[in-house]
Amino acid sequence: QEKLLEIKDLKKHFKLDRNSTLKAVDGITFDIYKGETFGLVGESGCGKSTAGRTIMRLYEATAGEVDFNGENVHTKKTKRELKKFNRDMQMIFQDPYASLNPRMTVKDIIAEGIDIHGLAKSKQERLDRVNELLKTVGLSEEHGNRYPHEFSGGQRQRIGIARALAVDPEFIVADEPISALDVSIQAQVVNLLQRLQKEHGLTYLFIAHDLSMVKHISDRVGVMYLGNMAEIATSDDLYAEPLHPYTQALLSAIPISDPEVERSRERIIVEGDVPSPVNPPSGCRFRTRCPFATDICAEVVPEFQEYEKDHWVACHLYNDKYNDAFEGKKALV
Ligand code: SF4
Ligand code: MG
Repeated sequence: QEKLLEIKDLKKHFKLDRNSTLKAVDGITFDIYKGETFGLVGESGCGKSTAGRTIMRLYEATAGEVDFNGENVHTKKTKRELKKFNRDMQMIFQDPYASLNPRMTVKDIIAEGIDIHGLAKSKQERLDRVNELLKTVGLSEEHGNRYPHEFSGGQRQRIGIARALAVDPEFIVADEPISALDVSIQAQVVNLLQRLQKEHGLTYLFIAHDLSMVKHISDRVGVMYLGNMAEIATSDDLYAEPLHPYTQALLSAIPISDPEVERSRERIIVEGDVPSPVNPPSGCRFRTRCPFATDICAEVVPEFQEYEKDHWVACHLYNDKYNDAFEGKKALV
């Protein structure tokens, strides 16, 4: 698999005041392959949006590295290099309403990138491109002359997608693009994104708070917890054989329609809220909510290791070194 992005020990901290720092993203490492959809999942506040924004340079990284086509996006860039990155990496937002300028016509919203990057030689070419994009996302030419408030949530998301697509990007960060939409509309937008991926050879980082949302669209999935990566696997492996107790808990929260499977399933329920990323727990950050936690979990930060081929997990349960510490508990996993 060819890598489009290599994210290496990436950190994004926000200084709140003199004594406290919000460690939104605190050292995550993973690759995104060309043409794939990488689903990034976690509860709100786990750092997934911040990770997406830092990867595409909307935020400056506190530490670590993001390589895009082999080039570190966070090193100093010339204006021209920055422009190139801005074209190659686009974002689709959760709230299409907030991200569309209410005073601009849809036509001009979509054409913004075309103008900035000089992608049309004439007014006519610009209009042709916009009309083509409107058609691509399932809207009509006539929609171009209207304003964002005249559209439904699903249509606004289509406008946001057309805007991202206008500059012919290689990589799109979709930050909860369907979370705010009616369930009946969600599948339509997902289908549109999948069709566009095929037609334009796009690579997606698809952010969601719910594993069921990324299941069908993702080739691989990463599960974040409190600024760290808990587990990464192919979509199939993650759902069939989740390793991290947090992933297991997220999955047991999804109802299964097959009663046979439902009955045989061990339920893992996690209680309480995600602790504050300003003062994360020592050792494993999940230990305050983990049903398997033992002394070692408070003392040692679990290493992110490749437990099986292409299946990464950060949990002492899968480290032979700590077998004794989990005596008796391990049978449950
Ligand atoms: Fe639970 Fe310990 Fe594994 Fe963390 S390292 S997930 S606390 S068992
Ligand atoms: Mg978010």
